[in-house]
Amino acid sequence: MAPDSPEAARKAELTKNLARVEERIQSACVAAGRKREDLTLVVVTKTYPASDVRLLAELGVRHVAENRDQDAAPKAAACADLPLEWHFVGQLQTNKARSVAGYADYVHSVDRLRLVTALSAAALRTERELGCLVQVAFDAASGTVGERGGTAPDGVTALAEAVAGAQGLRLDGVMTVAPLTGPYAGRAEEVFEQLREISTGLRAAHPAANMVSAGMSSDLEEAVRAGATHVRVGSAVLGDRPRLG
Ligand SMILES: *Cc1c(COP(=O)(O)O)cnc(C)c1O
Repeated sequence: MAPDSPEAARKAELTKNLARVEERIQSACVAAGRKREDLTLVVVTKTYPASDVRLLAELGVRHVAENRDQDAAPKAAACADLPLEWHFVGQLQTNKARSVAGYADYVHSVDRLRLVTALSAAALRTERELGCLVQVAFDAASGTVGERGGTAPDGVTALAEAVAGAQGLRLDGVMTVAPLTGPYAGRAEEVFEQLREISTGLRAAHPAANMVSAGMSSDLEEAVRAGATHVRVGSAVLGDRPRLG
């Protein structure tokens, strides 16, 4: 690429942003007495083009995440030659399960039994094993799904058992998004600590389900402190997204 091309400028910007996020993760690990290698950075590339995914791969990123199948499917296809693992982190309709199973290595947003059934059928059909995380919504009432997806905490065990017993699926752990409204708004660290407790309970029965996916651009330090294994960082790496709607 030419040194003064727009692509070179974008690469320089992503390099700088990634370095800053990496510094934040490392400082948080030091402060929490954790090892950097116990944490995985997942870069959330939603709304950004495949060309950015390509630049991120050149810069050493190995995990990327998307939240809408319509955008993710063509992007993953355009980047199929890159050594990347794809994480699906958005609310997922059962009729998109088959498409997602075609490119995703992990689905972080498993939040209802019907989705487990659909993902299992899709994984069998595409002959790809799917790593599944149960998404927990701490603002959801008992027995319901949260506004931004996720099962209420009392639904985790049944979902986890369903995933563990489903062909084509692998139970990998738990995920949450800190609530923006309700009693838990602004209390990300407490939420992440509760997720960690749920994870500890889950691992008693399923020791391999050790992924704890928590923390985004604004609260990754809290997530590291609370024991997350995966942080999902979008805007701090790629820039602020245009607001939808
Ligand atoms: C967009 C998104 C992220 C990343 O959010 P940023 O604030 O841009 O870091 C993480 N997790 C999920 C589920 C998302 O939808």
